[in-house]
Amino acid sequence: MSVKENIFSLRQDIKVLCQKISKNPAEITVLAVTKRVDIELIKEAIAEGIVDIAENKVQEAVKKYFLMRNTECGMRNIKWHMIGHLQSNKVKDAVKIFDLIHSVDSLRLAEEINKQSEEINKIQDVLIEVNVSGEKTKFGLKPEELIDVINKAKGLKNINIKGLMTMAPFSDNPEKSRPYFKMLRELKEKIVIKFGIGNWELVILSMGMSQDYQVAIGEGATMVRIGSAIFKK
Ligand SMILES: *Cc1c(COP(=O)(O)O)cnc(C)c1O
Repeated sequence: MSVKENIFSLRQDIKVLCQKISKNPAEITVLAVTKRVDIELIKEAIAEGIVDIAENKVQEAVKKYFLMRNTECGMRNIKWHMIGHLQSNKVKDAVKIFDLIHSVDSLRLAEEINKQSEEINKIQDVLIEVNVSGEKTKFGLKPEELIDVINKAKGLKNINIKGLMTMAPFSDNPEKSRPYFKMLRELKEKIVIKFGIGNWELVILSMGMSQDYQVAIGEGATMVRIGSAIFKK
């Protein structure tokens, strides 16, 4: 199937699902995960109305960002998302191009993002990545570290914490992801109460990929990160 057909059926699927659970599909942001995807295919997605592009490596993203900026696509209001692990030495480049960094997994990284954003007079939107499954191979804060890190990071003037992100362990069965997505939603509830954040709806939950986005939406995802379901042939 083409990118166009894939996006059509993805949207259709989200629409039907949202009807079932009485949710407004407009409240779900679909990120196109474009790692290792050629510019030509990314342009096809943008032509279908995708405005959110997600990459997991800074260098690849920077390259694409500048290639696309000088095209017709670049003129549209594309938002760039960093969803992969971010090393301190890449932060300087990252803050130049990303609208939202999903992968803040330590106070040190938050401080570095704050510092580099201050250099360029930017307030950088970020999500805090939580390792809800506790898998050793995954990045992210432990759930029990979350409140303390947010408490400290809140004081940093050049970052704006917009919500939480997680990845469920790999599985063929999307239902296996449900407990982890539920945990992230409960952590959101906890921090909203703890920090008295006014508008609940505005707190982002970035969770769910091609395999398990339906379960994620059911558990309260506001952003789903979709790669293969959009770009598979
Ligand atoms: C690759 C990736 C995705 C998308 O995965 P698909 O299974 O291709 O949809 C989502 N989130 C992160 C962090 C990724 O690295």
